[in-house]
This record gives sequence, structure tokens and C-alpha cells, in this order.
Amino acid sequence: MERTWSRRNKTREDRSSSKLANKFNFIAKKLLKRLQQLDAVVYPWLTELWNKVLDLYPLPPGTDIISADIVVQSSSEKLHSQSNPFYASLMSNERVTAIDHFQDVRLVKFNISGSSISYSPGDVVMIAPKNSMETVNDFISHMKLKTDDYFTLQQNDPVENYLDINSVPRRSFFELMCLFSEDELEKEKLKEFCTAEGQEELYSYCNRVKRSILEVLQDFPHTSSNIPFEYFFDLIPALQPRAFSIASSQQAYPEELHILMAVVEYKTKLYKPRRGVCSTWLAGLNPSDNVDKVYVQHRIKENGEYIWQLLNDKGASFYVAGNAKQMPDNVKDAVTEIVKIYGHFTSEEADIYIRKLEQNRRYQSETWS
Ligand SMILES: Cc1cc2nc3c(=O)[nH]c(=O)nc-3n(C[C@H](O)[C@H](O)[C@H](O)COP(=O)(O)OP(=O)(O)OC[C@H]3O[C@@H](n4cnc5c(N)ncnc54)[C@H](O)[C@@H]3O)c2cc1C
Repeated sequence: MERTWSRRNKTREDRSSSKLANKFNFIAKKLLKRLQQLDAVVYPWLTELWNKVLDLYPLPPGTDIISADIVVQSSSEKLHSQSNPFYASLMSNERVTAIDHFQDVRLVKFNISGSSISYSPGDVVMIAPKNSMETVNDFISHMKLKTDDYFTLQQNDPVENYLDINSVPRRSFFELMCLFSEDELEKEKLKEFCTAEGQEELYSYCNRVKRSILEVLQDFPHTSSNIPFEYFFDLIPALQPRAFSIASSQQAYPEELHILMAVVEYKTKLYKPRRGVCSTWLAGLNPSDNVDKVYVQHRIKENGEYIWQLLNDKGASFYVAGNAKQMPDNVKDAVTEIVKIYGHFTSEEADIYIRKLEQNRRYQSETWS
């Protein structure tokens, strides 16, 4: 704090010797002096305060007060951010609305184990999307990018990950395009879009119909082929992460993070439907191969106590239908396990219990291969 004060004072003095600056310095100096005087009072008071806090709220067992001569490592390096994202694996991506409902809403589950991400109700997660391969390939072929053209970025695949080629271009985009245009017709149109009189037309051409940067480049083929490669980052803004309200509780799913995501798709006067970059990308992802698949037997075990209550107390019946490979045996093993655990049976008793269910046609299988 002292250093900040003195640096500010010096800058002020250097800049001006006006009365106002003197007055300001006078007040600052007085305040600094008073704070220094208070040091003698504040420190004993703080020590007493912390002792009282520790009496009221003792440290959890196994933890200790960090000694004042230890330099605490900054935790900011470990925090995840736009420049240090966490690569969560996708666990599932299920549509939760009926197939004939106009809105495709997905429950998307991520595995965040090892991330040390913690969240509370009401928190938002930022997700960095990728452009669709269709638009990436269209851009690469339209701009005639060569395989030996490269960007030096900390990320790979800049067109897929970095350039927001699906966004609606701003006026500055047309100003820069205009500088590179040598085609008479195209240049004239671009110039018009940059004038005050051309704004209404620019709005109709771009914003009203949500025309994308890629589509504008395709509409101005002579100009876009003239844009030097190194100007791409001036012309095209960076792809931004999108916010999603977290839909799960970390108490229930410590290693997971769920979102409920509406897939953005709508029509304008343009032929191609407009699709949201992030929601379309996420909706098209399949769960990663490295994630263990969740089958019905896992769900049965997860809900074991409830299934036991239904079977034993409420007289429920169990119907197994589906592809006969491992599934029928795995489901029966899972139900037997539940009966064993919640009925407090031995393995033999549990087998007898299931057999009785089968005899009474309360456990039926219809499977095919
Ligand atoms: C705090 C916060 C929390 C959020 N939480 C959620 C959430 O829990 N779930 C969720 O699904 N989204 C949520 N969003 C919205 C989310 O961040 C994205 O904006 C959304 O998913 C669309 O992103 P996208 O990349 O798919 O679409 P983009 O490519 O960004 O396109 C979206 C744009 O398309 C245009 N657009 C969309 N629909 C139409 C239409 N019908 N007519 C005309 N133009 C249209 C709008 O200009 C819109 O800005 C949240 C946003 C914020 C700020």
C-alpha cells in the first residue's frame, strides 16, 4: 500500500504543481501518516481477533496455520480460464425434449474429475466452441489456403478453434475488405456499405438475415482472394466462449457438471438455416471413447434401494426387453445383487427369490439377437 501511495504522489508532483495537486498531496500524506500511526493499534487488535476466530471456528483436524515466513504459492495458475481451459470429457449428450417438439434441448454431462473446479447453484460455466467442419472446409477452400500456410498460435487448428467465421460481420470488416478490393464492382459495393447512407442496406444485407462472415466472403470472391493471409486476425474476430447455467449439484455429482442446452436453429430469408455455433457443435458431439459406458444394469444398481422397495413392498414386476448378448444376464445379476443387499439375503437366497419372481411371472425377459 505504501508503495502505491508514494508512486502516485510522485507522478502527481511531476505532472503539476497546481494548488489542487498540492491539496491532494496534503490529504494523501495526512492519511498515510494516520494509517502508519494506526499500525500500532491495528496489529494487536488483528492478532486478538484471529485468536477469537480460531476459538470459535477451530481449524479442521490435520490442518495447521501457515507460518508467516512461508511464501504461499499463487493459486491463480491452477485456476481455469479462457487462456487456461480445462478439457472436460463428454459423458453424455441426450435430448430431453420429445422428438416432435420444436425445441431440441439437450442434457449435456461433462466429467470434470481432476479439474478442481467447484461450483454452487446459480453458477455459470463458460464453454469454448469449435466451428463446424462444414464451415471450416468451406472457408479453407474459398480462401484458397495452402497446407504450408500456418499460424503461430498456442492452439492448433485456428480456423476451427479461433476464427469466428460464422458471426455476423461488423462495419469495420467491410472497411478492411474495401482496402484489399481491386474489383471495381465489389469495391463500389463495399465502399457503399461503409458510408452513412449505406447503413440501412448493410443492415438488410447482414444483420436482418444473420449473414455470416464466411457467406460475405463468398459473395465477394475477388476481394476475398486478395486478402493477405496475415490480415485474417484483423478481419475476423475471435470465437468467444458461451455461458451456460450449471444444471447439476456438486453435492450429488462431485465429479460432474451438467448443463441444459437449447440447440439454436432458426430460419431467415436466406436459404440455409442459421445454426448456433456452440450449441450445434455440442449437440453433435458423441461421448468420448475413454469414458465408461453407462448401461441399464448400472442404472439399476444406482437405484437399488428404490427398486427393492418396488419389488418387495409394492409387488412390482420386472420386464427385460432388448438385444440378447450380455444384457439379460447383466440385468439379472444387478437385480440379484440388489435383492442380496437390501433383502439381507445370501447369494443362494437371492437366487431363490429371483426364481420365485420368474415362476410368478413377475420377472419376464423378451430378448432377441
Ligand atoms: C449467463 C448466461 C447463462 C446462459 N445459460 C444458458 C443455458 O443454461 N442454456 C442454454 O441453452 N443457453 C444458455 N445461455 C445462452 C448461451 O450462452 C448461448 O448464447 C446459446 O447457447 C447460443 O450459443 P450458440 O453458439 O449456439 O449460438 P450463436 O452462434 O452464438 O448464435 C446465437 C445468436 O443467434 C441469434 N438468434 C438465435 N435465435 C434466433 C432467432 N430465433 N431469431 C433470430 N436470431 C436468433 C441471436 O443473435 C443470438 O445471439 C446463457 C447465456 C448467458 C449469458
